[in-house]
Amino acid sequence: MTERSPERADGDGMQAHRGSSGQSGENAARVTRSRLSVDVSGERVLKGEPVGSGFAIGPAFIAGEAPAIEPGSRLSHLSREEELSRFHEAVERSIAQLRKLQHRIARLPEESQVEIGPLLEVYQRMLGPSRLQKGVLSRLEEGLTAEAAVQEATEELAGLMVATPDENGLTGEDAAAAERRAGEFREIGRRLIRNLGREPFLSLAAMPDGAILVAETLRPADAAMIDPARVVAVVLEDGGTTGHTAIMLRALGVPAVLAVAGVLDHMHDGVTLVVDGYAGTVTVDPSARTLRQARKQVAAYVQERQQLGRMRRLASRMASGEKIVLQANLELPAELPLIAQSGAAGIGLLRTEFLFINAETLPDEAAQYDIYAAIVSTMGADTTTIRVLDWGGEKQAEALARAGIAGRDVVNPALGLRGIRLLLEHPELLETQFSAILRAAAKGPVRVLLPMVTVASEIIAAREIYDRVARRLKRKGIDIGESLPPLGIMIETPAAALTAGVLAQYADFLAIGSNDLTMYLLAADRASSEVAALYNPLHPAVLRMIGDIVMAGLMERCPVSLCGEIASDTALTPLLIGLGCRSFSMSASAVPRVKQVIRSLDYDACRQLARRVLAETDAEGIHKQLKRFRTV
Ligand code: PEP
Ligand code: MG
Repeated sequence: MTERSPERADGDGMQAHRGSSGQSGENAARVTRSRLSVDVSGERVLKGEPVGSGFAIGPAFIAGEAPAIEPGSRLSHLSREEELSRFHEAVERSIAQLRKLQHRIARLPEESQVEIGPLLEVYQRMLGPSRLQKGVLSRLEEGLTAEAAVQEATEELAGLMVATPDENGLTGEDAAAAERRAGEFREIGRRLIRNLGREPFLSLAAMPDGAILVAETLRPADAAMIDPARVVAVVLEDGGTTGHTAIMLRALGVPAVLAVAGVLDHMHDGVTLVVDGYAGTVTVDPSARTLRQARKQVAAYVQERQQLGRMRRLASRMASGEKIVLQANLELPAELPLIAQSGAAGIGLLRTEFLFINAETLPDEAAQYDIYAAIVSTMGADTTTIRVLDWGGEKQAEALARAGIAGRDVVNPALGLRGIRLLLEHPELLETQFSAILRAAAKGPVRVLLPMVTVASEIIAAREIYDRVARRLKRKGIDIGESLPPLGIMIETPAAALTAGVLAQYADFLAIGSNDLTMYLLAADRASSEVAALYNPLHPAVLRMIGDIVMAGLMERCPVSLCGEIASDTALTPLLIGLGCRSFSMSASAVPRVKQVIRSLDYDACRQLARRVLAETDAEGIHKQLKRFRTV
């Protein structure tokens, strides 16, 4: 994570983070219940979903431009029919996206609907039988790639629109309207080309350092490529706060606001933004007063960070004496130094997806071993919990798709061949990964974690492979240590949660994945902005289930930890402890804050809070209980 010092607080590219308990007073106050408000100074405040990593000031950089098409690649090597079918698919995807946007915009205040609604209709019309479509089809006939055909056709139409006023006989308002229309053609062209690529497309090459990245959407794979030293904040039109993109941004310590409806219609490249990743606000063209306020927040944060820095050396013990284990989640090896700084007692969740998502080919055993061994060695005597590949949901792995291992177009990816299911279907993947992990375990303490388990037979099958790989390594004389690392499971499906006691007889430890557990239990997609309000881990069903899992683990003497995003929410810490959780894994940046809270807590008070919370019937009542607890 990179922080910029207050000395550089000149209004350009400044970033800071602060504790989740703080609210950006003025900004939050100015944001009315609508998703957009305009201040008398001309500044506009947009509201989205906060990704709690702080706030930033900087110029907007609007990303998501169509990738430049190499002159040499205009002509297609595919048949005309294949290009045509790619084009039709991209049109369908674009229409579906626009409809989704329209649906979301229906919840905006009327003035915003008036601004954005007609535009979306224009875009959809353009995608139907239109001059644009005709232009593309005729170019496909000439053997062009769909990308080149779309780019040329949209540029031609845009060019026709903005031909000099003399040529067109346009002046004044007419010319401005023509300019807008040209922009509309270009925008729809960009959308089509992005949908044709379906690859991580984000190019940040032209982005100035210290800018705020503004885009329609960001895949986890794109988020992983972000350099937090260059990108001070991210603002997206799409996304949910516990989606993998959000997790990735949080891990990188990049302040972000997601699900800002119509964001691209409210700003232009270079305009100054103030992003508050806690309040979930984006202030466009801030007034001098807002800027002053934001700079103060940056300075205050730097001070707070220094105080939290001291937490590293202090014990993670409650005021009443109970020890609480705090470990870190790791998404990318780049986070390793952060883990050391955070004072985390090991890695409670190493998500190995990073090895796959931006890879051209599948990482072989040697490549995996090098990375695991380096991480395990760096962690020294602290345990590293390595989760085997959890492909699926909104995570996409090109290398897997290319290897023919996983299709990308299933209707419900979160309910499909995900996690352990995929690995058992393709045991060669699991064998390679187990082998690399077992060899790395010779370097230090390791635990192995299976994702997305629903039934004991999956653990049994995985353990058979685990033992077989271990025997093979031993036969070859490879050092894998005395005893095999514990093999645990994620509890992240309702089926696993309800049978946690049974599964605990087959697993060496349980890790509660509250992100997915909340999604599956509440039937609300964790990555969707449309159901963000329904995706609420404070739902009594989620909390009861967490309490029951912890109890089941206790009965079976099977260690339980919690590694979903709620582990880093300090407002929930007393409740989770009261529900019985004694071990957490979270983004490294959250460890000092959570430890600070733990050191102030009394165990009996947490138990009582949990009892009161479990007696509540809805999330609102629970929220009030938490608030009351904080203020007494
Ligand atoms: C979870 O589901 O809570 C979890 C930790 O796993 P992931 O977020 O990687 O799906
Ligand atoms: Mg999960």
